[in-house]
Amino acid sequence: MSLVATAGLLYSATVSIPKPRTASEDVGLKSHHVKGGFQNPWDSWKTFTFTSILYAFLWRRLTGESKAPDTKPPTVPVQKPQFLPDRNTPKLRATWLGHACYYVEFPGGLRVLFDPVFEDRCSPLSWLGPKRYTEMPCKIEDIPFVDAVVISHNHYDHLSYPTIKQLKERHPNCHFFAPLGNKKWFSESGISNMTELDWWEERELTLSPTNQSQAVTKLEDTKATGSDIVARIGCLPCQHTSNRGLLDRSKSLWGSWSVESNGQKVYFAGDTGYRAVPELPKGVDDYGPEYKFPHCPAFAQVGALRGPFHLGLIPIGAYDPRFFMSPMHADPHDAVNIFKDTKCQKALGMHWGTWVLTEEDVLEPPKKLREALKRNGIAETGVFDVCDIGASLEF
Ligand SMILES: [Zn+2]
Repeated sequence: MSLVATAGLLYSATVSIPKPRTASEDVGLKSHHVKGGFQNPWDSWKTFTFTSILYAFLWRRLTGESKAPDTKPPTVPVQKPQFLPDRNTPKLRATWLGHACYYVEFPGGLRVLFDPVFEDRCSPLSWLGPKRYTEMPCKIEDIPFVDAVVISHNHYDHLSYPTIKQLKERHPNCHFFAPLGNKKWFSESGISNMTELDWWEERELTLSPTNQSQAVTKLEDTKATGSDIVARIGCLPCQHTSNRGLLDRSKSLWGSWSVESNGQKVYFAGDTGYRAVPELPKGVDDYGPEYKFPHCPAFAQVGALRGPFHLGLIPIGAYDPRFFMSPMHADPHDAVNIFKDTKCQKALGMHWGTWVLTEEDVLEPPKKLREALKRNGIAETGVFDVCDIGASLEF
């Protein structure tokens, strides 16, 4: 049990194992577990040889085939987020804080932060590596409540040591969730309020009000009801990989997540691919009728067994060149299929607009998203949208 600081009221947090729900039959097989780590157990995944990686990076650069996207402003608009000052939330509310970071305010009071990275560079080094081309919309101290921090995997654009450290200092008793194999990193970072989960595992997080009040904020939670806040948080499959150094590839698991509280269900797709597309001539449509590349079956299982979701947070960027990026990063066409497979009613795009990780133009993902929606007979706005960085949308 731990205490969660909130405006006006302190909540004690407990994490328990809920009654299991139906999971996919893969659960028993554990086909994603391999000796010393994990794998993507599907035909839709592809691993690359050293030569092909060398080709992707060096040869394409030397021959001028690779592109460096133009990040000259203006690119993606940034606004200062308006977080709710208390836990009264009439509607589910999501605020994009850049890249894969979303802050979600649930009716009932739960506050969840997904994949927070509040650094300028997503890299092990503060002076080298991709640098933000859009501003950070706010600071960690601007976020009033954090009950749970949910991490998709350990890549630097999704898991940041300085950010996690600051979150723990600011919200000493919030609970961290990450896929299997990440516990050690959190323990070494001084965090014990942490649960690691395998795909299809779930936990119940209960926040119970204590009779203590909080001294760390000036905000008044005048309408706090004093009842328990309960959430069901589950780790789910996705197609990706992990590593923070050169020798730990796929040693910790990656995952997507479901968070359910007060009747609202959110699906956080994390960082994921959908299909592995081979190298095709320029301008060829890899979703053309002549191609039938296998896609990751996990999303339809998620939809069938955990869906429908009120809101999906789905990656739409970092996808070019396709022959190299497609196994691990969805493009907008893949993203719309993930949206459909997982049975999300609404969605917001993420994993774009922040760091240049790949070769597509920085403003291309939302354009391609509209094309993909149109192709699938879905309205181009109002269903699967993109928003400004720092914007909050209600559902
Ligand atoms: Zn990643």
